[in-house]
Amino acid sequence: MELTAHSIPKRRQAKSLALESLIGAVAMVSVLIGVVAAVAVLIFFGFPAIVTSLSILVGSLLNWLFLQSLAEIIRLLKKIAKLDYAGVISGSHMEMVPTCSHCDATLRNDVYCDQCGARLIPPSV
Ligand SMILES: [Zn+2]
Repeated sequence: MELTAHSIPKRRQAKSLALESLIGAVAMVSVLIGVVAAVAVLIFFGFPAIVTSLSILVGSLLNWLFLQSLAEIIRLLKKIAKLDYAGVISGSHMEMVPTCSHCDATLRNDVYCDQCGARLIPPSV
């Protein structure tokens, strides 16, 4: 008897380069190039070129800020549209941290509590 099967459509995560992460990477490269250029101008032309060097530095930092803001706007728009986005939205946010059940201190290792010294019982699976 011949083995038969049906074609079943199934959802899966399609990986692609997110524009917001590309913009963030370009922003980092831009600020690195700006810092290197500012230092190079200062080394080659000396102290009289300090204004030029500082303007290159400030310009690259403002360029970084602009590109990061653009990436943030894309992340926020994707979050509003309930789409997946790369990176994190800046600002404070809630996160889960392990705490001691005895003294409520934040745990720094999996073996014992640094605050009260209680030995931690591994979670049962
Ligand atoms: Zn404790």
